[in-house]
Amino acid sequence: MGDVIEFKPRKPHKLGLCQHGFHTWKICKEKQFDVKAGKLITAYECARCGVRKVKAT
Ligand SMILES: [Zn+2]
Repeated sequence: MGDVIEFKPRKPHKLGLCQHGFHTWKICKEKQFDVKAGKLITAYECARCGVRKVKAT
């Protein structure tokens, strides 16, 4: 369990499940070292709306 940071969606309209918080997460970048956070993070992006989140691994 790590910190989760969510970014605002690019197209915040008519996204079905997305607007209820049920995103279709796909891995964008796996186990990347984030210099700012000083730890390994995995970046996810929603296949539908493009909202992104990063999770510390
Ligand atoms: Zn979404």
